[in-house]
Amino acid sequence: MHSLDRFAQAKLDDLKSRHLHRQLTGTFREDGIWVERGGRRLLSFSCNDYLNLTQHAAIKQAAVAAIERYGAGSGASRLVTGNHPLYAELETRLARIKQTEAAVVFGSGYLANAGIIPVFIGAAGLVLIDELAHACLFAGAQLSRGTVMTFRHNDVAHARELLAEHRAAYDHAMLITDGVFSMDGDLAPVAALNALAEEYDAWLMTDDAHGLGVVGGGRGSSFVGNTHIDVPLQMGTLSKAVGAYGGYLCASAAAIDLVRNRARTLIYSTGLPPSCVAASIAALDLIEREPAYAALPVQKAKAFTSALGLPDAQSPIVPIIVGEADAALKASQMLADEGFLVAAIRPPTVPAGTSRLRFTFTAQHPDEEIARLAATVRERVLAQ
Ligand SMILES: *Cc1c(COP(=O)(O)O)cnc(C)c1O
Repeated sequence: MHSLDRFAQAKLDDLKSRHLHRQLTGTFREDGIWVERGGRRLLSFSCNDYLNLTQHAAIKQAAVAAIERYGAGSGASRLVTGNHPLYAELETRLARIKQTEAAVVFGSGYLANAGIIPVFIGAAGLVLIDELAHACLFAGAQLSRGTVMTFRHNDVAHARELLAEHRAAYDHAMLITDGVFSMDGDLAPVAALNALAEEYDAWLMTDDAHGLGVVGGGRGSSFVGNTHIDVPLQMGTLSKAVGAYGGYLCASAAAIDLVRNRARTLIYSTGLPPSCVAASIAALDLIEREPAYAALPVQKAKAFTSALGLPDAQSPIVPIIVGEADAALKASQMLADEGFLVAAIRPPTVPAGTSRLRFTFTAQHPDEEIARLAATVRERVLAQ
């Protein structure tokens, strides 16, 4: 056997022995909520398509029209010839929703985070990041070559201790958190973190991948509770509630101009297909126009948590922690047998011993199916 295959096989055997091997399963998403998998039709509680906009007729039509007009791909980096005319409109829209001076769109959320952090932090800088923040924020932090420290989840006092002790030794500092935590569904204390960052001349960056379109009237985690917190770096994705693909940063004009000049994942990567940009614009139209629709996913999640006597959902994401990876897989399989698609989330996506079922709720989930799901979970998961 070739040494490469020997290496791969040994790694795979190890993953399998720990129930951590993953497989790509062909999934046909029929509409916003029903999927077909392995010949079975399942109701999905695992898509991040919170507003079911991936399947919205007018949004799909906008994408088709953009393909007809501008082509299937963008042909080059945005800095060369890939900056088709739709980009400017999307960036103006994003800045308006987030109430910032400017915005810049990346190829994906992952690319955004991998590119943004190294623009602002170098080898003499400090990155303080919530321990449960998304993997691509850690990737961006590592790429910056600065010193990376984690603070305990949502623990502002711990972040303060670290800043008090270490801030002075570094030229610049960033404080980084998910706005809505992707695997836990809770919200970051954005106002407190922003005040803390101001106090220590650190720059707060929030990742609102699961905030835009669903919390804060659809504007995201800086707008929860009818306030507006002036977070200097607000990042997010166009691939979840917006239903298309791409990442973005909203910030001041100077910060955005610097990102356009320095973010390597923007400069050295091809621009998005025009269809993604057009679909995103059409989706943002809908989100701005219909805040009541944008409120539905959280309402549906709250119906589920209240039926189970769990703490009130704060976002469309509800985790039920099972513990070990194989137990989470078994629970997911049991729900599939009942007609529900609920993915088991295992390490390294979540810390060891916290494998879980992760439920995501969307605007169009029927209430009676949510009730049936809650009853099944009560009898077959929580009673175990
Ligand atoms: C999904 C996600 C990303 C990555 O966004 P993509 O556009 O899918 O690459 C970044 N951050 C968080 C918190 C996410 O959940």
